[in-house]
Amino acid sequence: MRKKKLKVFIAGHKGMLGAAILKKLKKKKNFKLFYESKKKLDLLNQKQVDTYFLKNKFDIIYLCAARVGGIWANKIYPANFIYENLTIQTNVINAAYKSKASKLLFIGSTCIYPKHCKQPLKEEYLLSSKLEESNEPYAIAKIAGIKLCESYNRQYQTDFRSVMAPNMYGEGDSFDAEKSHVISGLIGKIYNAKKKKLKKLSVWGTGKPIREFLYVDDAADICIKVMNIRKEIFHKLVKPNLSHLNIGNGIGISIKNLVFLIKNIIGYDGQINFDTSYPDGHPKKVANIKKLTTLGIKSKTTLDKGIKKTYDFYLKQKFK
Ligand code: GDP
Repeated sequence: MRKKKLKVFIAGHKGMLGAAILKKLKKKKNFKLFYESKKKLDLLNQKQVDTYFLKNKFDIIYLCAARVGGIWANKIYPANFIYENLTIQTNVINAAYKSKASKLLFIGSTCIYPKHCKQPLKEEYLLSSKLEESNEPYAIAKIAGIKLCESYNRQYQTDFRSVMAPNMYGEGDSFDAEKSHVISGLIGKIYNAKKKKLKKLSVWGTGKPIREFLYVDDAADICIKVMNIRKEIFHKLVKPNLSHLNIGNGIGISIKNLVFLIKNIIGYDGQINFDTSYPDGHPKKVANIKKLTTLGIKSKTTLDKGIKKTYDFYLKQKFK
């Protein structure tokens, strides 16, 4: 007898990670995939989300939909960051429970960890001290998402999982100079400086913060693999009271060294000045990925290779 296909909903399939997950799942035969435009399904609208979920009764949900952006976007749009993330995740997680979904994956980020935190960041350091100010509204929303998953699991024995990713980058990223994250922001700025033959380029912050970066294709692979882990194994791993798992590669690089890496890839030989009137954000964000590696899951793309691919994508979409 032919096995019935599992119904999978990807919330946020137009975003960088959602699109990468969708592309990978399309290659697998055992899933019936669902994704909707914002016009057809507004995830901020609880009634619409409830109706859609109760009608379709999904088996698996990837909750990738979120308001995301770099350090400057977080500073300018704090209300959007907290309201949209809280609302989307609350609507989707509750509808997943009501419609009896068997599994859900919630995506968060390592900005949930305190500003002055022991490194590398272990899952258990969540809520151990104050958050970093630059993205506190976003981090609070993501922490609420983790706690939603955890609370539904406790009360209703659901299988809602959450993964905390480092800074993601890659194909499908936004290259907006003001709103984007650091890698895509720098690709756009350094490329323009090269084109305009600028002798100097000013970069935000001191260059001292340390960040971990995960290429989006690797992130998508990891998310799918995490969802394939058996329920007992996953929940035993994230015990005693936490539902979240760090994903990434555990490798940190300073923003200064990142700038030089991107400068070399693009071939810009002007001078770099660090503009300290811009915020640095977290001093250091590098995850402890021991739990992930015990599952035998690893990322494979080096930062150098990932940035080259992202730069190729940037050029292709600029000149298409
Ligand atoms: P964060 O990890 O939440 O701080 O997010 P970002 O990716 O926005 O920023 C990482 C670090 O890169 C911060 O210390 C920024 O000050 C620094 N940075 C330097 N130049 C840029 C830029 O052009 N865009 C962004 N987003 N950050 C930059």
